[in-house]
Amino acid sequence: MLVTPLLMVLLLPVASSVPLQQRRNTTKLLLVSFDGFRWNYDQDVEMPNMNAMAKDGVRARYLTPPFITITSPIHFTLLTGKYIENHGVIHNMYFNTTNGVKLPYYPTQGISKWWDNGSLPIWITAQRQGLKTGSLFFPGGNATYQGEQVNVKKVESGLHKWDNKTEWAQNIETVMLWFTEQDLDFVALYFGEPDSTGHKYGPESEERKAMVRQVDWAIGHIRSRIEHYGLKSKLNMIITADHGMSTVLKEPTVKEIVLSRIANFSFTDIQFDLLDYGPTGLLLPKEGKLEQVYKALKNGHPHLNVYKKEELPERFHYSKNLRIPPLVLYGDLGYVVHGRIKVQNNKGEHGFDNEAMDMKTIFRAVGPSFKQNLMVEPFESVNVYALMCELLGITPEAHDGSLEVTRNLLADTGVTPAPSLSAPSQSAPSQSAPSQSQVAFIVAVALASVTGVLLIIFLGALISTAISRRRQGQEV
Ligand SMILES: [Zn+2]
Repeated sequence: MLVTPLLMVLLLPVASSVPLQQRRNTTKLLLVSFDGFRWNYDQDVEMPNMNAMAKDGVRARYLTPPFITITSPIHFTLLTGKYIENHGVIHNMYFNTTNGVKLPYYPTQGISKWWDNGSLPIWITAQRQGLKTGSLFFPGGNATYQGEQVNVKKVESGLHKWDNKTEWAQNIETVMLWFTEQDLDFVALYFGEPDSTGHKYGPESEERKAMVRQVDWAIGHIRSRIEHYGLKSKLNMIITADHGMSTVLKEPTVKEIVLSRIANFSFTDIQFDLLDYGPTGLLLPKEGKLEQVYKALKNGHPHLNVYKKEELPERFHYSKNLRIPPLVLYGDLGYVVHGRIKVQNNKGEHGFDNEAMDMKTIFRAVGPSFKQNLMVEPFESVNVYALMCELLGITPEAHDGSLEVTRNLLADTGVTPAPSLSAPSQSAPSQSAPSQSQVAFIVAVALASVTGVLLIIFLGALISTAISRRRQGQEV
């Protein structure tokens, strides 16, 4: 009889720490990415819906993406809060320097081993903590992570046409039904525009401006559907993108970078190359040829930057990963890197230095957790993850960002902020243990439980011995 209150007392400290693993609030989150939306695309196009959202919510002057400024690596930074060298999705293309296999963007979306290399995207972390999540076309949403997948997903077809407004409306409706009928807590929604149009026609074209008007329509449509479905008071929405876009400089205006034209450089010295992908290039020289290739390229073109990976400026955070080949090349703003022959015809490109203003992108948010009519100074994409974890009330994995950077965007709800359990992620993803805090927590709970039970048994035995001795004493 004594055991029951005793049990409650003993289990109290264990039970009180359990809510750490449970959600702390009831708001839902929609993350929207409009691929290639440059930070200032709203300045030469009327965007009434985006302006209305800015009035009702918060915005950063711009968002600084990680290097290299291409789609899949940056989206995985948004989903993990890690720099590219730390999350390991170092390119849009899966490649293997041993057998020479290279896959384009779309098939790489389905290669789980390319994505699942030590870092968990927010979908999986949220699901492990009891939430339900979805991905509509979002980069990384088609992979399996440590045996787990996003709960609900829609994956694009191989030759997807990204500009279809009717399909945009259907996708928005799908997401609303996921939130209402399926009660998802977090959805990541991706649009391949205005990136495709920016590449094809250039960022200063009328076609790009028309596409930005379509983006504005989509923002208005999403917000009106949120209202229609009664989600306004419980759904936060973040609108962002991966990178910006810059006009490609071409001959005869400039001398283009073509590696095969560079003196003393020969492709016979190269074991593996990833070139003709905008302004960046990755090279693995044959054994003993590194110095020779490096020297030849280093002075090969006044607008070509050539680095041994470990000598890349630290601000790029693009060195410490085994997947990055020994030589990294990138062109100055406007200069793409051609390999053997010129095969790149785009009028717009990205992939350049992330300090170039043309590579900066947008960050906007609205919803019950955000302040209104507030613009803040620029911050890095790496910080969006911690904010999303806070909004969802989940404990983040180790990451490279900080909630402190975005905390001033949040409305004062009177709720004590969740304890920050984040720690800087380690340099080598293979060595980082993203769920260390969770493992430690589970072990602590298990140990506390075992200790509690043992203590109960011990106390029970002690009490029963005492009672029986007393009885024996009385009898004697
Ligand atoms: Zn992109």
